Amino acid sequence: MIPLAEPTLNGNEARYVQECIESTYVSSVGPFVEKFEKAFAATIGASHAIACASGTAALHVALRLAGAEPGRLVAVSDFTFIASANAATYTGADVLLVDSEPTTWNMDTELLYDEVCRRAASGHQIPDIVEIVHVLGHPAHIEPLLELRDRYGIRVVEDAAESLGAEWCAGTATGTYAGTIGDIGCFSFNGNKIITSGGGGMLVTENDDLAARAKHLTNQAKRDGGYHHDTVGYNYRLTNLAAALGLAQLERFHDAVRAKRTIAHRYHEGLRCLPVTVAPRASWANPSYWLYSILTHENALGPNQLINALAERGIQARRLWPPLHQQTPYRSTERIGGDVSAKLYRRGLSLPSSTHLTCSEQDAVIRAVTDFVR
Ligand SMILES: *Cc1c(COP(=O)(O)O)cnc(C)c1O
Repeated sequence: MIPLAEPTLNGNEARYVQECIESTYVSSVGPFVEKFEKAFAATIGASHAIACASGTAALHVALRLAGAEPGRLVAVSDFTFIASANAATYTGADVLLVDSEPTTWNMDTELLYDEVCRRAASGHQIPDIVEIVHVLGHPAHIEPLLELRDRYGIRVVEDAAESLGAEWCAGTATGTYAGTIGDIGCFSFNGNKIITSGGGGMLVTENDDLAARAKHLTNQAKRDGGYHHDTVGYNYRLTNLAAALGLAQLERFHDAVRAKRTIAHRYHEGLRCLPVTVAPRASWANPSYWLYSILTHENALGPNQLINALAERGIQARRLWPPLHQQTPYRSTERIGGDVSAKLYRRGLSLPSSTHLTCSEQDAVIRAVTDFVR
């Protein structure tokens, strides 16, 4: 069986977790949480990193800090995992879904830019916050959002849950990691993500005040460490156990991203001449290829048939997300754009992408896809 994405746990994971157990610090107090935060911030070039119980929790706190509340409007990518939009909905804010563009499969930020300018000119409500999702390891086209921030004061929150290690290599953000250019960036360490802490997330920011407030909110808004609370906070701390695992994983961050890129390169070479659309890579981006994903062609058999054919050979593949506007909680949510996100769902699937995937396993996947589409 070749799984879609399995964690690679052959570094210091067992040793650090064992240390937690021996010290009895298995819960939310203990040295690994701060070590993980510091190391994470240093690794991706952020001033502050605050560990959270999950990526979704990090997004919830980030959006609240960015001002999301009832009456506010948060623009969210239509094509993403549902947690992106749920985090906005938790705050009571309204969601505006924005279609993808076909080059990177991310939010069409130029479409949003034009829409915001039009709305501003005609006195209609504009988004207070853009939650930009970098899907599947590919950074989004960020310039229009930075312009919206300058021009209208719109906050930018990045959902980089799937895109740890992805970088821009041209334009304003050259040399920057996805998640570190907005006001706040969020990451996930769920089991299938680029690195894992078993479950967990991280919020990063350059702003000292936002960082302090994020830490405060994730810890029940406790004042002075006692039973005094100055707002409604959350129990969103990461445990020392999870942080121990996460720290060990982070030590292999560069290896993990390199492995993802090597896998993507091999898929690209093996699949690019076939009648499928290979994973996107914009000229200005250096993706981290969380899950290498392809599109079947419009008049060919679809992803379900291909997934079944792969399963017969012991290969696990998975469809991409139905766009949010097709999901029950967001059916009547306001939306801009056309049908790019719907097409990505209709035609897309992810191929096995574990960082320890071997060349022979990968060749078996490429052969199976080739046999199916030819
Ligand atoms: C995984 C993921 C999340 C949520 O992260 P959890 O740690 O599972 O809560 C949010 N957004 C996107 C785009 C994701 O892929």
